[in-house]
Amino acid sequence: MEITDVSVEKFRVEFEEASGISRGRSSSTRPAALVVVETDTGLTGIGEGYGPNASIIETVIEEKYRPKLLGMDPRDIESIWAEMVTKNTYWDQKGPGISAASGVDLALWDLLGKHHDEPVYRLLGGNAHGDRRPRAYASDLFWDDPDAMAETAAGYVEEGFTAVKTHLGRGLEADRERVRAIQDAIGDAELMVDMNCGYEPPEARRVGRMLAEEDVYWYEEPLSPYDVEGHAELREALSVPIATGENEYTKWGFLELFREGAIDYAMPDAMRCGGITETQKICALGEAFETVVTPHSYTTGVGLAATIHLVLSSPACRWIEYDVTDYPLYESLFVSPPELDEECRIELPTEPGLGVEIPDRIKSEYGVE
Ligand SMILES: [Mg+2]
Repeated sequence: MEITDVSVEKFRVEFEEASGISRGRSSSTRPAALVVVETDTGLTGIGEGYGPNASIIETVIEEKYRPKLLGMDPRDIESIWAEMVTKNTYWDQKGPGISAASGVDLALWDLLGKHHDEPVYRLLGGNAHGDRRPRAYASDLFWDDPDAMAETAAGYVEEGFTAVKTHLGRGLEADRERVRAIQDAIGDAELMVDMNCGYEPPEARRVGRMLAEEDVYWYEEPLSPYDVEGHAELREALSVPIATGENEYTKWGFLELFREGAIDYAMPDAMRCGGITETQKICALGEAFETVVTPHSYTTGVGLAATIHLVLSSPACRWIEYDVTDYPLYESLFVSPPELDEECRIELPTEPGLGVEIPDRIKSEYGVE
């Protein structure tokens, strides 16, 4: 079996309303880079590399990885990973190079599953959770008036979600008002709060004490991702659990977070940190450090599919981040959309590979040159 081509399909979705996060930042565009690996058997794998600019991922793959991968056996996933990442230690330990490699890696796992006619989670070790499969939490609730946020959150709970994540990070009192309104609206459901690196340590401590008083489930990215020690100090000082990792790369990056005692919930993003191959190893580190892994996934349905297969097969994983924002590149990319049971636990996928496709309608409506 040989790789005959590697290419990138780029997409962009524009939203009428911007989604607000910490420090007044917001965004109304979501780009996506889907990676397609073709083989001499006719089987094709689909993956996704995550980043703010799909063209950069495309350039890295076309100019750097494609020439190395042509002719390789796509089943030699570790060798291909080494070819893309570790054999070239200059330049790409973090950032778009790893995101692009992640996209290729996902496509290789998709191919392997199709080759063996098995869903990918089966090849990763099967269902690690029995009936206690990870639950989906509703992601995301963006910055707005407290009442509007509370109403949206209540709607997610009415749909059946037992946990909701929101973006805050615009000052202690403004955050407190929204946390109280949302907690009142969602009753027994859990509330996760994401600061998108919006605070410096003194205010992060004050806000963290408030979140603990308000019984928040986790405190996500309170600080800059560069400040590993600061996360460890916050974790020591606060009773609210600390979640971080979506801006970290590879097992070596996560090893530092684990060793420094910086996290309660590790959040590797498989579309960024090194693919399924690397996230599985980060999950193993999580097990060794007795740290729960709750992978970050705010991508297209291809990224969601990869995350579902990972989370199902790793004993370290508990939650699955489920995008509830009406993103048109989400469930539409599944051969059969994912299903949640009455407890919001993810059902076992049955399609071979990642179970994803890129319909022509999606290409013509959201594809970009
Ligand atoms: Mg986040």
